[in-house]
Amino acid sequence: MRTLLVLGGGYGGLALIQELLGSHLPHDVEMVLIDRMPYQGIKTEYYALAAGTVTDYHLRIQFPVHPRLTVRYGEVGSIDLESRLVFLETGEPVAYDILAIALGCTDNYHNIPGAEKYTCSIQSFSGTRETYRRLNDVKPYGSVNIVGGGLSGVELAAELRESRPDLNISILDRGERVLSSFPAKLSQYVEEWFKVHHVETLGQISVSHVEKDAIFNGTQAIPADVTVWTGGIQPVKVVQQLELPKDRGGRIIVGSHYNVTDYPEVYVIGDCASLPFAPSAQAAGAQGEQVANIIQALWRNETPKLHKIKLKGTLGSLGKNAGFGLMGRRSVMGRVPRLLKSGVLWMSKRHFG
Ligand SMILES: Cc1cc2nc3c(=O)[nH]c(=O)nc-3n(C[C@H](O)[C@H](O)[C@H](O)COP(=O)(O)OP(=O)(O)OC[C@H]3O[C@@H](n4cnc5c(N)ncnc54)[C@H](O)[C@@H]3O)c2cc1C
Repeated sequence: MRTLLVLGGGYGGLALIQELLGSHLPHDVEMVLIDRMPYQGIKTEYYALAAGTVTDYHLRIQFPVHPRLTVRYGEVGSIDLESRLVFLETGEPVAYDILAIALGCTDNYHNIPGAEKYTCSIQSFSGTRETYRRLNDVKPYGSVNIVGGGLSGVELAAELRESRPDLNISILDRGERVLSSFPAKLSQYVEEWFKVHHVETLGQISVSHVEKDAIFNGTQAIPADVTVWTGGIQPVKVVQQLELPKDRGGRIIVGSHYNVTDYPEVYVIGDCASLPFAPSAQAAGAQGEQVANIIQALWRNETPKLHKIKLKGTLGSLGKNAGFGLMGRRSVMGRVPRLLKSGVLWMSKRHFG
């Protein structure tokens, strides 16, 4: 038997598996998925889990049950590319013929002292559960700092405002405005929403170090009961440890078939891969499907047909009743993008579930 081993059952890994299960699998191929969790966590909604407006249970999608798929639970510890072995943290080896690395990303603390130790995360399911506990245990009228005014920081701040109207919430960003990679018009709309809903936005903050009850912008202390880090991402530790060519974000450089030049049997999908667009669930899913088509073509001894991945745009929420989005070059704001975001979530639950 040949083994296709998929590491990570998130957006990218599951898209690959679903696509392959929906087509003809060669009789001598077995698929194995390894994940630390017994279900997919809907990561795009972790901000709501952290804020306490949705439950853990509602953000789970069960992995597919299929006679051609073996699901194994465990923490992937390392990958030995030479001997084609993946080691679980327990030391147990798992052999592969084809490997798909789809382990996603973790926080990037940019070597800022105290950042990892004293801030909360929304990058993993278990980390987000802990963040939920800490945010919701903040004493009445306490304060929360959110470092990073990108999509996830903005969504978390707005959701937390709806969940805890009593808290003093601040978003601190390096740039001049929140959502600095979006058009200025969109940032202004979001800044205005924050003003009306009493969320403070502080620009040009360069975090120098973090202590238990405050973050520091040089000598200026900005106190908080809890600080949440949304100030950058990088691939998970297993990928950080792989000695392979990477881009500036630490993502593995892949060829046109999304595999590694020196190890063509190794494909990299989603947030771990260096792609021409920003990491997103949408990109990971589209890429996972493409990798499935590539592997299928190679199994049939055909030349894979590649089409350019086209992304549909970005949608963000500001609590349950407002949102924003970017469709091509068009900015959309208000209730419609919020409804669209809910619709996308519903469809993705149906697609994967
Ligand atoms: C708050 C927030 C909001 C977001 N909103 C959006 C959005 O609106 N639209 C959008 O497109 N993107 C959004 N994203 C980004 C999106 O979630 C990621 O880009 C996407 O999840 C990447 O998919 P992936 O398959 O690469 O990794 P993931 O979906 O993260 O899957 C990785 C899998 O690997 C498993 N894993 C990781 N390490 C190990 C290990 N060592 N051992 C075993 N298992 C392991 C994890 O359990 C997980 O199941 C958001 C992210 C956040 C945090």
